[in-house]
Amino acid sequence: MLGVKASHAQSIENREVFWGQEAKRVHWHTPFSQVVDVSRLPFASWFVGGKTNLCFNAVDRWLESDPDQAALVWVSTEVNEQRTYTRKTLWQEVNAVAAMLQAQGVGMGDRVLIYMPMIPSAVFAMLACARLGAIHSVVFGGFASVNLAQRIDDAQPKVIVTSDAGSRAGKVTPYKPLLDRALELCASSVQAVIVENRGLYAFEPVSGRDLDYADLREQHWGQEVAVQWVESSAPSYILYTSGTTGKPKGVQRDTGGYAVALATSMDYVFQGKAGETFLCTSDIGWVVGHSYIVYGPLIAGMTTILYEGTPVRPDGGILWKLVEQYKVSVMFSAPTAIRVLKKQDPELLKKYDLSSLRALYMAGEPLDEPTANWISQGLGKPIIDNYWQTETGWPILAAQPGIEALPTKFGSPSFPVYGFDVRVVDEQTGEDLGAGQKGVLAIVPPLPPGAMSTIWGDDERFVSTYFSAVPNRQVYSTFDWGLFDEDGYWFILGRTDDVINVAGHRLGTREIEESVNAHASVAESAVVGVADALKGQVAAAFAVLKQPERYTTIEQQRALEVEIMALVDQQLGAVARPARIRFVNALPKTRSGKVLRRAIVAVCEGRDPGDLTTIEDPSTLEQIRESI
Ligand code: AMP
Repeated sequence: MLGVKASHAQSIENREVFWGQEAKRVHWHTPFSQVVDVSRLPFASWFVGGKTNLCFNAVDRWLESDPDQAALVWVSTEVNEQRTYTRKTLWQEVNAVAAMLQAQGVGMGDRVLIYMPMIPSAVFAMLACARLGAIHSVVFGGFASVNLAQRIDDAQPKVIVTSDAGSRAGKVTPYKPLLDRALELCASSVQAVIVENRGLYAFEPVSGRDLDYADLREQHWGQEVAVQWVESSAPSYILYTSGTTGKPKGVQRDTGGYAVALATSMDYVFQGKAGETFLCTSDIGWVVGHSYIVYGPLIAGMTTILYEGTPVRPDGGILWKLVEQYKVSVMFSAPTAIRVLKKQDPELLKKYDLSSLRALYMAGEPLDEPTANWISQGLGKPIIDNYWQTETGWPILAAQPGIEALPTKFGSPSFPVYGFDVRVVDEQTGEDLGAGQKGVLAIVPPLPPGAMSTIWGDDERFVSTYFSAVPNRQVYSTFDWGLFDEDGYWFILGRTDDVINVAGHRLGTREIEESVNAHASVAESAVVGVADALKGQVAAAFAVLKQPERYTTIEQQRALEVEIMALVDQQLGAVARPARIRFVNALPKTRSGKVLRRAIVAVCEGRDPGDLTTIEDPSTLEQIRESI
């Protein structure tokens, strides 16, 4: 077998051979006639002419071999419940949900929005959509009404599946009222809202629109819904992500390419084997949850754990307890979760039998060396940092122990993953840079199977956002700085744009600014990401008031800060709430009016703000310094 370097080279230089071979890992109802169509770059279609189905590959395909094998295990430390769905019972549940969606007229190409906590019906709904050839759009439960409304208006779902509430750290977090509020804000209307009532939060169903999940499940139980065979390039889902504008982008994913890419990654990157258990601590509202809670492990015939809870309740040993109890062989988490655990009793790491665990994978934000050291020593297992984005759907950079075991380096997500023609390019000229040189991390098209096919409903924005940022050549910009060293190990050095990463959650500062500005007292604001020991980054806001004379005392300012934070919570959700909002007379801007964010960040982090020759009024930066 080829090593990591040689298989990467083959995947780029001889795509047909490499991907033609890999495609055999999934079931094709109709074989494809062409591996990839690159006649319309930067758009690419993978496995042209082939027909397949994600739900079939994740669920039906595994039914025969061992129907009683666990497929989905739900553990909730929030409501103290555990449930195991076998391959057979998962199939039954998915069919029941597919039947209820079908009864609402959902079919091929229709959108279904899923706004749910980490409960099994959310996974059933995703798989049911896939079964029907419908397109799901899962919205993270931490997002609130304005975020939701934007996504509803953009995706135009026929049906929404939701729940009365979730629970976080023992506190009920209502979903249904936020959805109701969002629907009031929306220009579009939906046909039906299916509500799984967990009995956590009392609500009045909207008559003629809201339907009860349990009633429908009973009604459709035992029904078998035929798998819809879809074109390989048919959209499987839309997942919204933040960028530099206030308008989130609907990342559109294909079907066949995604199935193949995930199947390969489960083997080459994650070393997951059928019959084993995968534990991913992400949320189904994020791309990691789509790929490695739901589709990846199930496509590989693994048992996947859906965990509703925090890593520290009932105590900081809960994740390790799950590893022992369910004999987890592969675990995937985010550096923030591990930093949280670092504050717990280190003995908790020794309390459980972790012998089943092969490695811990981490992604979503930079993995700092102290955290990596702490967890690797504590576990005595390989820690595999992997780098990717919502857009790519699976890792761009990672160690690939399923291909070849190579040493890792702290701080580096190792090597380019097969299929990704990654380069470090010069920001000014677009030219490729060599070892040790910092530049923009870019990918030469075509993007590999499973990566985004376009922005939902906006091909032009796909090209203008991602393929026009690097000068003089049409390459995909990751909007991350990076470099590779003499030994071929790659490093990520932060974002090139205004996107911030709070506890592994990607947030657009523009969206937060718009929400802060929505307060009647605020004239304008700047939101930046500032380094934080626990969360990686936190949002810090600086606001200019319309009538500063009304807020002169500390108490008045503090009250206003609380009010603005509440507004952000209500509009975007608590994830987006700035850690602090400070009031200044003016924002540091260039003479052409552009806010000097990098200078603000530098000042907040106690660093030298660098070249300030373009600043209109240097005292504004001084004021920021004083305010913190
Ligand atoms: P998201 O689309 O929410 O998954 O966020 C993707 C962004 O998170 C990337 O563009 C990076 O800025 C950051 N990121 C993800 N994984 C890593 C990693 N392993 N190391 C450093 N940054 C990462």
